[in-house]
Amino acid sequence: MSVPQVLAGLRAAERDAGRPAGSARLVAVTKGHTLDEIGAQILPHGPFPLGESRGQELRDKSTQRPELEWHFIGPLQRNKIKYLGRVALIHTIEAVWQAEAIAQAAQGWGHAPDVLIQLHNGEVQKHGVPPHDLPATLAAVQATGLQVRGVMVIAPDERAGADPAGILRVFQETAARAHDLGLPELSMGMSADYPLAVQAGATLIRVGRSLFT
Ligand SMILES: *Cc1c(COP(=O)(O)O)cnc(C)c1O
Repeated sequence: MSVPQVLAGLRAAERDAGRPAGSARLVAVTKGHTLDEIGAQILPHGPFPLGESRGQELRDKSTQRPELEWHFIGPLQRNKIKYLGRVALIHTIEAVWQAEAIAQAAQGWGHAPDVLIQLHNGEVQKHGVPPHDLPATLAAVQATGLQVRGVMVIAPDERAGADPAGILRVFQETAARAHDLGLPELSMGMSADYPLAVQAGATLIRVGRSLFT
């Protein structure tokens, strides 16, 4: 697949869901791909936000192309926060200390990235805030001064037995929680499941593999 094919799939998913074209935005996940590959395969099709999940790789790429919109979508370790100085949106806040460290670093950067709070998906895996902790985590992250734009979730893995109905349910529950808290952005859906995410109201889909193969 390629960017035009994913965009066609995205427009079809919006249409099927009765949503306006462009109401879900593609975040092109470019981890592991060089700036040359990104320049050849992604950028000719539009000015997409670019999603990276490794700190040093993001720093190197965003330093060379600071005019592009960089998003961080990986696990936030304390010693990696220094690499995020050119990031517009961090999708993966899952602890208050991460927001505090980013708010502090942002004073040196001269601008603060906006953030999303990552929700746990109910699967046995370690990332994300448990849903019942979301209101308290949101309040504590907002208290750091960072702008919380919404929530992010990674669907349960189909290879680990999740079925489309279960994945859709996780996306719908995530959308309901964000809505209850007045949070507009919903980062959900990857190559394997973005149509379900769009059906549930995703505003940012994070697609990587399908763009480059
Ligand atoms: C790599 C990655 C993606 C993209 O996944 P694909 O299956 O390549 O589309 C999305 N979200 C996160 C958090 C990722 O690490």
